[in-house]
Amino acid sequence: MPQTIIQDGTVVSLDPDIGTLEGADVLIEDGEIVEIGGDLADANAEPIDASGKIVFPGLVDSHIHLAQTQVRGIAGDWSLMNEYFDHMLGNITGLYRPEDMYLGGLFGAFEKLHTGTTTALDWSYPNTLEHGERAVDALQDAGIRAVYTYGPPGDDAAKWWFESDVGLPEENIRELHEEAIRDDDLLSLALGLRGPDFCTDETARADLELARDLDALSTIHMGAALWPSSVYGEDYQGFGAIEDMLGPDVNVAHGNHFAQEDIDHAVEQGVSFSSTPEVEMQMGHGIPVTGKVLEAGGRPAWGVDVCSNVSGDMGSQMRIGMQLQRMFDNQAVLEGDEEVTEVSIAARDTLEMATIEGARALGLDDEIGTLTPGKRADVVVLDASDFMTAPSHSPIETIVFQSDPSHIDTVLVDGEPVKRDGELTNDLVESEFDRFVESGHRLVDEAGIEL
Ligand SMILES: [Zn+2]
Repeated sequence: MPQTIIQDGTVVSLDPDIGTLEGADVLIEDGEIVEIGGDLADANAEPIDASGKIVFPGLVDSHIHLAQTQVRGIAGDWSLMNEYFDHMLGNITGLYRPEDMYLGGLFGAFEKLHTGTTTALDWSYPNTLEHGERAVDALQDAGIRAVYTYGPPGDDAAKWWFESDVGLPEENIRELHEEAIRDDDLLSLALGLRGPDFCTDETARADLELARDLDALSTIHMGAALWPSSVYGEDYQGFGAIEDMLGPDVNVAHGNHFAQEDIDHAVEQGVSFSSTPEVEMQMGHGIPVTGKVLEAGGRPAWGVDVCSNVSGDMGSQMRIGMQLQRMFDNQAVLEGDEEVTEVSIAARDTLEMATIEGARALGLDDEIGTLTPGKRADVVVLDASDFMTAPSHSPIETIVFQSDPSHIDTVLVDGEPVKRDGELTNDLVESEFDRFVESGHRLVDEAGIEL
C-alpha cells in the first residue's frame, strides 16, 4: 500500500482531541490518515519534509461556479440584479459548449488546489448532458474532491429561472450520476435547486424530492435579494414552500434576507448556510448571514461563489467574512456607548468555517475537514519560515492573516500530491492552458460584453 509521511511540521489538526502539535508527523496509508504524532518514522513511506511548515486540513469551498473561471475579471463592477442576471445568466452561460465547461472546471479546480482548497462544491448549469459530462471530466482530471452540483441549464433564463414550473432534468441527472459520479470516491452529487425564490411551489418541492430520491445534497440560492416581495408583489416568505422539508441535506447559499426566526428554525433542522462574503458585499445581496447563523447556534461555511468576479482563493473569504462580522459586532457595542474590549469571533473559528464547517455542509465531515486518523488525507503544507510568515508565533494566525497562496508548498488530495514544492503536479496545467484562454476570449467576444 502506498505510504506517505509528512514529517516534523506544526500540525494544526483542528481535531479537538488532537489539537496542535509541534514537530509532529502525519502518516498516510492508501489515502487515509493512519497516525499523527511524534517520531512516526517509517522506512517504507515517501517522506514530505514539513520542518518550518504548518500542516493543516485542506480548505473546503462550499459554493462556487467553477465554469466561470475563463470569464475571470468581467464582473468586478457588476451588481447581482442588473449585470449579473443580464450578462451572466441571460447571455454568457447560454454560449457555453461542453469544452468550455471542461476548461473552466479544470482551471477553476487548479486554482482551488494551488490555493489550498482540496474540496469544492461546483454549482454547475449544464446546457445538455454532454456539458455535465465534461464538467465532471474536469473535476476528475484535476484530481480535486468535489460535490458536482447539477443545476438548471444555463441556456434559457426565462425558462429555468423566475417562477419556473419546469423541474430539473431528471433523466440527465440520473444518467450522469450512474455513469460518472456514483462510483468515484472523490465525487458526490448535489442538485442545484432554484427553490421557492425562483420557481413555483410545486417545482421547488419536486426538485427537493428528486434530490432526496437520489440521496443527494440540495443546495439552493435563497434570500440573496428582495425579489420575492419586489418582483412578485408578495411578502417575505422565508423558506416558503419547502419550510416543512428542511433537514441536514439542505444547504442555503447566501440567505442574507432571512429573518432571525427562520435561521433559528433552519439551524435547528440541521440546514447549513454557505456565505460568500466578498461577492455578497459587492453585488448587493445584503449583509452576510454569518451573524444570524452564529446567533442561532450554528456556524456558516465559506464560499467564493463566482470567480468571474473575485479570486478563487478561500484565504480571502475566510479573512473578509470574519473581519466583516467583527466590524458589525464591534459597531453594535460602540452604538451602546461602550468601548470594544474583545473581538467576537476568533481566527480559529474562521479557519474551521473554511474546513470542518464546509465539510459538514457538504455531508463530508466523516471523511474530511480535520486531520484525524481514519479520515481521508486532504492536507495542506504551508511555509511559515520565509520573510513574510516568520516568526510564526501562532500557527492559526499565520494561516489566516499572514500567508498567501505563494506560501502553500504542498497539497495532498486523498493522499495524492497535487502540488509539490509550490508547483501543481498536473501536466494539463500546461497542455490545456492555451485552449482555456481561447475559450474565455470566445465567450466574452460572443457575448458582446464591453469592458
Ligand atoms: Zn452561486
